[in-house]
Amino acid sequence: MQTNLLINGQLIAGEGASQPVYNPSLGEVMVTLNEASSAQVDAAVQAADQAFDAWSQTPPKDRAALLLKLADRIEAQAEVFASLESQNCGKPYQAALNDEIPAVADVFRYFAGASRCMNGSAGGEYLPGHTSMIRRDPLGVVASIAPWNYPLMMVAWKLAPALAAGNCVVLKPSEQTPLTALKLAELINALFPAGVVNILFGKGPSVGEPLVTHPKVRLVSLTGSVATGARIVATTASSVKRTHMELGGKAPVLIFDDADIDAAVEGIRAFGFYNAGQDCTAACRLYVQQGVYEAFVEKLGQAVGSIRHGLQDDPQTELGPLITRDHLERVAGFVERAKAQPHIRVVTGGNRVPGPGYFFEPTVLADARQDDEIVQREVFGPVVSVTPFSDEAQALAYANDSDYGLASSVWTADVGRANRLAARLQYGCTWVNTHFMLVSEMPHGGMKQSGYGKDMSMYGLEDYTCVRHVMFKH
Ligand code: NAD
Repeated sequence: MQTNLLINGQLIAGEGASQPVYNPSLGEVMVTLNEASSAQVDAAVQAADQAFDAWSQTPPKDRAALLLKLADRIEAQAEVFASLESQNCGKPYQAALNDEIPAVADVFRYFAGASRCMNGSAGGEYLPGHTSMIRRDPLGVVASIAPWNYPLMMVAWKLAPALAAGNCVVLKPSEQTPLTALKLAELINALFPAGVVNILFGKGPSVGEPLVTHPKVRLVSLTGSVATGARIVATTASSVKRTHMELGGKAPVLIFDDADIDAAVEGIRAFGFYNAGQDCTAACRLYVQQGVYEAFVEKLGQAVGSIRHGLQDDPQTELGPLITRDHLERVAGFVERAKAQPHIRVVTGGNRVPGPGYFFEPTVLADARQDDEIVQREVFGPVVSVTPFSDEAQALAYANDSDYGLASSVWTADVGRANRLAARLQYGCTWVNTHFMLVSEMPHGGMKQSGYGKDMSMYGLEDYTCVRHVMFKH
């Protein structure tokens, strides 16, 4: 297993405090690693800064060629990456192999192409005797901070646009799930010039904070919780750093009387519980119109009750564990507090699964009310709430009554209604008659406390650049 950090073209062991990395299905330590020391954090940023001039001047076609090669090499070792990811996260191996690794390779390929298509808007004469042009230039050193839920995919979302735009990167994966990022360090080191990509290991306070506050970092890109986003915005404010924030979510799912109820049930079974619900877009906050409410709740309970949890290597496994014991306690706490409310009905699940792994039963809580904690707060586990609504206006008001603004979906046969609601939902994404689908060409990102800035798409690439004006006197 490759467990060294990547700093300035060298794969070297961390020199900071040691941290265990777990397999959450078994509750066992997989490996113990040393964090980056503060001198190593500084060395990584200095290396990225040194590499920036040459990398930013490298023609887009040459940057693209390296990103394409990286995608090929990830695919060539797909089983190794999928195996590491599934052991470190507990997620089903087949899902890691067939869903995540192809998506990772596709993101690198998309941004390889996108780097060659980025335009400044056209120039012209806006002052007599002068010509203006607009450039989009890279920013310098980007500090990228990733979460634990899709470790390698989040690394791809961060690295690919930053590198395609001509920036150099210091990346810190989550301390809970560093193994695929460290494996990737080996592939990157064989391809990219020294210093263009540096990869560290360590926790937020000890490694993340010195990294994001380093004076030579020009942009901090975070995917993580709202609390961490707020903290990074505060700690970087005094140096007026750019920030790019992809934070939490609590996706509303609006199911109308005229929807295809079986398709909606199947959709929630899949998209509410994928990755054990540890997904910022998870279909977790259901609003169902009164005419179909009881029938929907009954069907959903049966469907969710049939989801099989188990170890990551069992091909029957659909649902893995939660990421840590602490997170299991957190999810169990939300469900216990919901169960203590007399109006809430446990349709299925509701309990932790006995054993050494951090499993929680797939859970449906019906008759939840709009003000309930389970409706308002991000649980980030295999738990969905269901709330009845009377009409379109009430559904929209409930959906928008949230601190979050990442993803939403509308399930209806009425195209006019779908369009009306899509225009008024305060979410970065609205799906109609589906949920959860992402493609590299389309932007992903939030409104309100879900953050700002886009991942993927040309908008994601632009976020890693600065618009500049150059003027020529004739
Ligand atoms: P987290 O905020 O605890 O950690 C995210 C990363 O930030 C980790 O690498 C952590 O070490 C680092 N970090 C923590 N404190 C820091 C600090 N002071 N300075 C610098 N870095 C620091 O989040 P998590 O628990 O790893 O991930 C789950 C959260 O991520 C959920 O809220 C989820 O909704 C969100 N998420 C959002 C998206 C999206 O696209 N919007 C995608 C995936 C996950």
